[in-house]
Amino acid sequence: MFGLSGTCSACRLQIPPNEFVMKTPDGAAVYHLTCFVCVTCHGRLVPGDRYGIVNGNLVCENDYVTVALSNQRRPQQPSSSSASQPRQHPSKVR
Ligand SMILES: [Zn+2]
Ligand SMILES: [Zn+2]
Repeated sequence: MFGLSGTCSACRLQIPPNEFVMKTPDGAAVYHLTCFVCVTCHGRLVPGDRYGIVNGNLVCENDYVTVALSNQRRPQQPSSSSASQPRQHPSKVR
């Protein structure tokens, strides 16, 4: 349900009820669309992208392994709204 959207977990500003928000899958955190970015590479995350959450920070799929390892936590599966197997061959397109 829409309604009170709450406070953006990235910039800590209140989110107006009429504004679109991004939510984590567990609904624990909401973000402005513009704040829904990877903390490491600042890449914009969009619905369908694979990402993870490390210590409350959004991390894109590419950076997730690095961040998760550096946090010495038990790795979780990156959340994904379009479930599929992780790609096994890293692409080197730059
Ligand atoms: Zn924000
Ligand atoms: Zn990233």
